[in-house]
Amino acid sequence: MDIYDVIILGGGASGLMCGAHLSKDLDIAIVEVNERVAKKLKISGGGKCNITNTEVSERNFDGDEELVEYALSIFSRDDLLSFLEANGVVPVVRKNRYYFCKDSSDEIINLLKSRSKHCQTLLNHEIVKLEKKDEIFELTTSKGILKAKKVVVATGGKSFKSLGASDIGLKIAKDFGLKVKEFTPALVGLTLQPEQSWMKELSGLSAYVHIRVNDKILKEDMLFAHKGISGPVILSTSLYWQKGNILIDFLPNENILELVQGSKKQISSLFNLPKRLSKAILNAIEVEDKECKKLNKEDLEKLKRVHSYEFAPAGNFGFTKAEVCRGGVLSSELNRYTLESLDVKNLHFIGEVVDVTGELGGYNFQWAFSSGVLCANTI
Ligand SMILES: Cc1cc2nc3c(=O)[nH]c(=O)nc-3n(C[C@H](O)[C@H](O)[C@H](O)COP(=O)(O)OP(=O)(O)OC[C@H]3O[C@@H](n4cnc5c(N)ncnc54)[C@H](O)[C@@H]3O)c2cc1C
Repeated sequence: MDIYDVIILGGGASGLMCGAHLSKDLDIAIVEVNERVAKKLKISGGGKCNITNTEVSERNFDGDEELVEYALSIFSRDDLLSFLEANGVVPVVRKNRYYFCKDSSDEIINLLKSRSKHCQTLLNHEIVKLEKKDEIFELTTSKGILKAKKVVVATGGKSFKSLGASDIGLKIAKDFGLKVKEFTPALVGLTLQPEQSWMKELSGLSAYVHIRVNDKILKEDMLFAHKGISGPVILSTSLYWQKGNILIDFLPNENILELVQGSKKQISSLFNLPKRLSKAILNAIEVEDKECKKLNKEDLEKLKRVHSYEFAPAGNFGFTKAEVCRGGVLSSELNRYTLESLDVKNLHFIGEVVDVTGELGGYNFQWAFSSGVLCANTI
């Protein structure tokens, strides 16, 4: 049986980018459970793949900031854009922040496929386990055993099982004795306690808000849904929230006390929000929707809660809806400069299987690509 120089486990974003940057002189296999590669890339960003962001720094990630900072210094947002453009993919910027494929995520998938053509792609191969015998790795798959000198685990997180996702990467890490943080759903909608059930009645409405969660302030649109709350700002909130309170500023660009001062109008008509939402917020903070001039001292005090509506979500929508997983192989188990296991020589981990998770907005692909290139360069 031939022994590959490198086997990449998983033909997703990080695995393909790693393969694309590995030397053509190496004998490489990419092992993928699905009948085609990059299924998450395909559906991401509504089919147009939010590749990266105009602002990228280690502070946009939950995880080891030094590790992220180093990976970004090796393959930054600008390096990624140059790589794409040099290969004929010119992304467009939406909302002044998000880089998307112009027409379809196929643009980036085709690029990655063509740049990793020197790797043998083994489709419909489910990875079952990985062992190391006398310095050689033995990979058991549903189609038999493969051998390699080096292995890159790029099997991603376990959300969206329907796309082939699994926690095999964590199982492999644990089998080799590496410490991991179990996966939990992230970039996912949040469910509500009965006290906030008023939000469910606003299903379909959205508003630009600021949310404070732990020491982060996140700014984007929030969507009210049947099951709870969602939308970009909530998905990012879910990355940093585990339990406890979050705080919403429903009117981040206004000062409520200045708005009502001297006004003869009804309070709810002053909010730059859908009327139904304005009324529901007033109801939630126990202020009667009346003419501003009728507001008393107590009302004015309560009105301040428009900028700081505080509550504890109940939970989240779960793995089936989560765009990513928090958790993964602990960075303390890896050499920061190579993403190689400190204990198991020639075993590397990249992408979502590492305990690094980005906010919503292209950060997870940026991490997948940066970590993939970092690893390829060291191999
Ligand atoms: C609906 C959705 C939309 C998203 N949109 C965006 C977006 O717009 N921007 C962004 O930055 N991020 C987005 N993400 C997150 C992003 O897709 C992931 O963070 C990224 O794909 C992680 O890259 P990866 O290479 O680590 O894992 P993946 O891309 O998931 O690749 C892992 C590969 O391993 C394979 N695999 C898993 N288990 C096995 C096994 N047992 N045997 C063989 N193969 C296996 C999988 O089939 C998969 O192909 C989105 C995710 C989802 C679910």
